[in-house]
Amino acid sequence: MDHWNLASQLGEIKAQQLYRTRQVLASPQGTNVVIDGEMFNNFSSNDYLGLANHADVVRAFQKAANEYGVGSGSAHLICGHTKEHHALEEELADFTGRQRALVFSTGYMANMGVISALLKKGDVVFQDKLNHASLIDGGKLSGAQLRRYSHGDLQRLQQSLEKTDLNRKLIVSDGVFSMDGDEAQLTRLVSIAEQSTAVLMIDDAHGIGVLGNSGGGVLEKRGLNQQQVPILMATLGKGLGTAGAFVAGSEELIETLIQQARTYIFTTAMPAAIMAATRVSLKLCQQESWRRKKLASLVSQFRQGAAQLGLNLMPSETPIQPIVLGSNQAVVSAHAHLKSKGFLVGAIRHPAVAKGSERLRITLSANHTKSQIDGLLMALEEAVC
Ligand SMILES: *Cc1c(COP(=O)(O)O)cnc(C)c1O
Repeated sequence: MDHWNLASQLGEIKAQQLYRTRQVLASPQGTNVVIDGEMFNNFSSNDYLGLANHADVVRAFQKAANEYGVGSGSAHLICGHTKEHHALEEELADFTGRQRALVFSTGYMANMGVISALLKKGDVVFQDKLNHASLIDGGKLSGAQLRRYSHGDLQRLQQSLEKTDLNRKLIVSDGVFSMDGDEAQLTRLVSIAEQSTAVLMIDDAHGIGVLGNSGGGVLEKRGLNQQQVPILMATLGKGLGTAGAFVAGSEELIETLIQQARTYIFTTAMPAAIMAATRVSLKLCQQESWRRKKLASLVSQFRQGAAQLGLNLMPSETPIQPIVLGSNQAVVSAHAHLKSKGFLVGAIRHPAVAKGSERLRITLSANHTKSQIDGLLMALEEAVC
């Protein structure tokens, strides 16, 4: 395939400082990770509650692997759906206060599957410009018209809805925006959807486990029920520390997805052991509210310290704390400096964020210590001030 010129394309990506490489970890996920024999303070993971390597979660995984083996052997609709999958779905429905829940193998697939199962040509999907790539791609796959509004510009959304006479109207938003850390204006979104007979779907990948008294996410925090937000999607691989995702909503919604969501139907079910591990992490998430309290206090410690340093903080109360530096060069060099001091943070560039808003994405975990935060602040002072 030499004539496709992949090598010169890669050269261009490198020249723009957009080249991505993977760091090879030789340790469990946690607030300290090992790369190339060296230990780093990890401020780049989405393991917000510190459950990815929790002893009880690991033990549940091992026990279920002994009982069920590793592979699920087939898709859910053939013979891959075990008691563990089923029980987790029931517990997730309870947890979110929805009638039913359906587990998907990844969040990416859940979003692609939901939107394409519900919408087709002649329908329309409205999306915040900062929505996750999987939501945008789900919209494209569906064949519905895609209308994107500037981040948080709900007036624009409302105007755009008023001009629409298309069939089904779906409004989709991240609950907590993954690169900015701010929350969607949910109460307004709910009333806009009601006025315009549109359906609201919220992707709470970064809110679930983290927000709400029992970790029910942004919908629990705002007290919004299934009628107000008929489609809730969230992932299991972030706050809950395992892998996969789920959609929660009415009986009819879930049955429709089972019949029509191609990313559900045509894929192998997750291993039962992942489901068993998630059932335990879900319990820990609900029972151990100290994790959310500790996280909140670390977030405020970080924000106070960063403000004192004059860093460019964003209006985020969540464990996602971006620091916008505004160019690839600045992000790449700050990231390298921090790494040399033993701190890993996310280096986020286009297309994950708009050009000119390149940033460090710092994420906090309930397992971080206060002194790790102090250390990070000192390293940031040298790296970007
Ligand atoms: C991570 C993420 C996804 C994708 O979930 P995976 O399980 O990692 O595929 C979807 N939506 C949002 C907002 C996310 O942050």
